[in-house]
Amino acid sequence: MSFDPYAPPAAPIARDVDLRLTVFVEDYKLAIKKGSTLPACCVRCGEPADTRVSHRFSFTPRWVGWLFLLSWCFALPVMFAVTKRASLDMPLCSPHAVAWKRGRTQRWIGLGVLVLGVALGIVSLVVEAPEEVGLTLIGAGLFVGILLAVLASKQFLRADKVDEHYVYVVGVHPGAIAAALHASTQRPL
Ligand SMILES: [Zn+2]
Repeated sequence: MSFDPYAPPAAPIARDVDLRLTVFVEDYKLAIKKGSTLPACCVRCGEPADTRVSHRFSFTPRWVGWLFLLSWCFALPVMFAVTKRASLDMPLCSPHAVAWKRGRTQRWIGLGVLVLGVALGIVSLVVEAPEEVGLTLIGAGLFVGILLAVLASKQFLRADKVDEHYVYVVGVHPGAIAAALHASTQRPL
């Protein structure tokens, strides 16, 4: 049997491979092109994924934190202006999908506690209740709300950078990185 160099490759392209997928690794982060679909491999444990959860990644440059020390009124609009966001579908196995969704719920509860604490604190200051009551409510709302949000964030991956085309996701399981790198090379000629 003669060898035909122009014959199509023997291994067909896997059906779940998205031909628009483009990924690369930079400083242990998986850079995923916006709009890509990762192969069905759990990003937390590398096992076969059962589902995909859409996650909105956001990234705020660290220097914005210093502005908050100067003035909240100035820092807040700057933060909204420079924060970059992008949504990606994360393939997950069932247990990690449950944990991811639990983390998301916990984050909303944290935000609710924060807003409620600050709102009640402001109301109590406006109605001239003892000042300590208002300040305690604001402090407790901020502390508990931020604590819940930080604990919740451990359930999902975060982005270390979001630029015009890519989301740089930290902590993707090495097995899922390998699957994504492999899938992104499975392109038609
Ligand atoms: Zn998993």
